[in-house]
Amino acid sequence: MQQRDQIWHSLDATEVTQVLGTHLKKGIPDSDVEWRQFEYGVNKLTEYRGQGPIKRFLLQFNQPLVYILLAAVIVTLSLQEWIDSAVIFAVVLLNAVIGFIQESKALQAISALSRSLNNTATVIRGGHRKTIPAEQLVFGDLVLLQSGDKIPADMRLVTTRDLQIDESALTGESVPVTKNADKLEANLVLGDRCNMAYSSALVTYGTGAGLVIATGDDTEIGKISTMIATTKVLDTPLTKRIKRFSHLLVYAILALAFITVLIGALRGEALLDSFMAAVALAVGAIPEGLPAAVTIMLAIGVARMAKHRAIIRNLPAVETLGSTTVICSDKTGTLTKNEMTVRAAWAAGQSFDVAGHGYDPKGAISLKTKYDAQHNITDVRSYPLLEELLKAGMFCNESRLLAHDDSTDSKGEVETRWRIDGDPTEGALLVSAYKAGLHDDTSGRFESRLDSIPFESEYQYMATLHTAQDTNLVYVKGSLEAILARSEGMLNELNELIDIDLKLIKAQADAMASQGLRVLAFARKTVANNKTTIEHADVADSLHFIGLQAMIDPPRPEVAAAVAACHQAGIDVKMITGDHALTAMSIAKQLNIVDSNDETQVITGQQLSNLNDVELVGAASNAKVFARVTPDNKLQLVQALQSQGHVVAMTGDGVNDAPALKRADIGVAMALNGTEVAREAADMMLTDDNFATIQSAVKEGRGVFDNLKKFIVWTLPTNGGEALVILLAVLLGVSLPLLPVHILWVNMTTAVCLGLMLAFEPKESGIMRRPPHQPKASILDRILLWRIVLVSSLLSVFAFGLYELELLWGATEAQARTVAVAMFVVGEAFYLFNCRSLERSVFSVGLFSNPLIWLGIAVMAILQLVFTYLPAMNSWFHTAAIGWDAWLRVFACGALIAIIVGLEKHWRYRSQTVKLKSSTRHARAYS
Ligand code: ADP
Ligand code: MG
Repeated sequence: MQQRDQIWHSLDATEVTQVLGTHLKKGIPDSDVEWRQFEYGVNKLTEYRGQGPIKRFLLQFNQPLVYILLAAVIVTLSLQEWIDSAVIFAVVLLNAVIGFIQESKALQAISALSRSLNNTATVIRGGHRKTIPAEQLVFGDLVLLQSGDKIPADMRLVTTRDLQIDESALTGESVPVTKNADKLEANLVLGDRCNMAYSSALVTYGTGAGLVIATGDDTEIGKISTMIATTKVLDTPLTKRIKRFSHLLVYAILALAFITVLIGALRGEALLDSFMAAVALAVGAIPEGLPAAVTIMLAIGVARMAKHRAIIRNLPAVETLGSTTVICSDKTGTLTKNEMTVRAAWAAGQSFDVAGHGYDPKGAISLKTKYDAQHNITDVRSYPLLEELLKAGMFCNESRLLAHDDSTDSKGEVETRWRIDGDPTEGALLVSAYKAGLHDDTSGRFESRLDSIPFESEYQYMATLHTAQDTNLVYVKGSLEAILARSEGMLNELNELIDIDLKLIKAQADAMASQGLRVLAFARKTVANNKTTIEHADVADSLHFIGLQAMIDPPRPEVAAAVAACHQAGIDVKMITGDHALTAMSIAKQLNIVDSNDETQVITGQQLSNLNDVELVGAASNAKVFARVTPDNKLQLVQALQSQGHVVAMTGDGVNDAPALKRADIGVAMALNGTEVAREAADMMLTDDNFATIQSAVKEGRGVFDNLKKFIVWTLPTNGGEALVILLAVLLGVSLPLLPVHILWVNMTTAVCLGLMLAFEPKESGIMRRPPHQPKASILDRILLWRIVLVSSLLSVFAFGLYELELLWGATEAQARTVAVAMFVVGEAFYLFNCRSLERSVFSVGLFSNPLIWLGIAVMAILQLVFTYLPAMNSWFHTAAIGWDAWLRVFACGALIAIIVGLEKHWRYRSQTVKLKSSTRHARAYS
């Protein structure tokens, strides 16, 4: 590629345009896109598949259990027990294959999710600005960058404005680099090329523009493809805990196994027998399948959440979501629709109403007179300051109002659909101006614009610099506080400067805000016509206040119910907003986030900043609405809440929200309106930016956590029972009821056919009516531990008893062992129904509410019949055909386990409800 050989940073911008065949201001013409794409392909990285399949397969053998088994293979080989060693080895292989498939499935699910969101890029092509999918970028494209963007391709910067880029993905250097557009000397390393922006780096500050010099795999990041670790670690706090637990167990078991061999030797038994007992013990007692099962259950949870429009970026988040205790949510766009419509305006002491709905620029602007009569305004020029107010809203604006003549209404007439491209707050201002006859296409706002300061939540304002007749003109819009603090006077009806009437303006703004309207203030300033750039300092004072526009942003209809559901589930909901306290409170009341009469539940960011640590913790827990907050406040809040032991979910969309999102237990980013930077920092993304989605994700998370718990409670008794059987046999000095291969058979088949089906267990109906799981509490409480011990004992006693009974009645050792294996399989199948709910009886859950349970049992039955009656299996696994009466006994014992556990649950559940009832009675008595 000719382009690749250029040392782009050592050319100046015009040279670059020549080489790339592009234009510094207009970009490439649209007609160019096709051949450019044809030549170098789409701007997409070849997908990174993580560790190669072979390595992943081999890693399956890297487990303590497998070491033990491989040792068993070697020992049996040396003893020339060919079939035994072959079967054990086959089982090891099968175990690896199953593990490999499960892990691949989980990885697939996760990488599919990371692919499901497309990035966009803003380009200028043929002189027109457009937003396109980043994949369609071609070399030569002129790309506009602003803070929060992820760089979509490698580019040579041509203009920058305080541009800072975080290139840690490439260089490992986490401090953002300040960029400029100047020519550099040739031999510089990548990190020092300050006039370049490289794909996948993040814009943390400022704005800029660059020309694309490489796309797709030709980019620097594409060359070091190992860096694009789309793969996330599959370890979660839970799997880590389980792994640590089972590693500990290994030592205990090795010690036990050693003792087993010792006892055997003292009794004068054959070394092989005691060795087999030791292996059986080790194989039986370690729940090695557990981490894999946890992973796959979490992956299933990820897929379910994706259906509910919540995309998980970190597997552990699924688990954490279930224990969330506080959700801190943005207001605009998450609790509300973010469909802004200007309803009222105020300028020069006059109030105006604006009619109409949505972005459709139809609706009259009318003057509100003293007598409450409406007076429609036909010519906005008779109200010069109103005109100036609307013009300021239009000029100080990055968005666009777009019309589509694509749909026809019922009468067959072409209907124009209006939508906006950009920030809804700004879109609303274009619509209000349009309603007064100020049309964007003819306004020349972009042509006259010399410079701008983009809106950032920290500053709460935006400013643009325009050429005017004799002087240049700055328009500023922003929050009332930000504008008033910078104004030296206000304009009257005749556009003359008079003293500012703070009281009047504030009263106006408060009246608007307490109706839930979002209020923006507007001001202007004339500057010398040789001034072509503006800085924050240029608008720090001497502004001329113009007026106010207030817009409604209705709450999303589904949010009130979601908030109520959270409250019922013991989850606190807090509103975090950059908006005015009165506006925020009005919306919070509509959504029942606050009690309608409690005005003390709101606190502003400024008040927060003045608190000491102790007061901060108090305010963070008590207040429900946090208004005019900055991203710093968000971080403070997360920390304060966490210090109280809360598990915090926090939403955020801006660059500066990233620290708070990272710090939060669940960082939630927005897919529609959020920045790339926020998304990178988040654990979860909402594809619809909707609060209700967080609530349903929490619900799913609780479901997954429940099912995991059910699986653990179901699976541990198998291990416990097997270990007990072996111990019992060793201690009593009798032959082993289960050989290692039998234990392997039970563990592998039941886990896959029976246990995993619990992952598909529907959520229990009361799942959002109980308090969140305490994060520090262990997964299994005393009741469940007790149940595990109970079932382990029952299984081992039944299996051991039936084994000895069969031998007593003259069965062969192989037959008796087949019965013992059947006892475990059947017992686990019965017990599976007990585990479908840990508290309620299977009948209240519904015997057939999870059909996969039955499917699993059917498959298990077939496998077990094959295991028992197929001659080949008989010789491989040392099994033998057994009679129907043996099956009957096994089934009777299995049913007995289910009945005993059922009664235990019933007894506990009843005593719990009794306790609950009496405690509510108490509560009532005291209230
Ligand atoms: P939130 O997203 O929580 O509503 P923002 O940080 O977006 O809060 O807005 C805070 C305040 O900044 C708003 O109340 C408004 O006055 C002002 N504001 C919002 N968007 C813009 C914008 N595009 N330009 C100028 N000012 C804005
Ligand atoms: Mg906002």
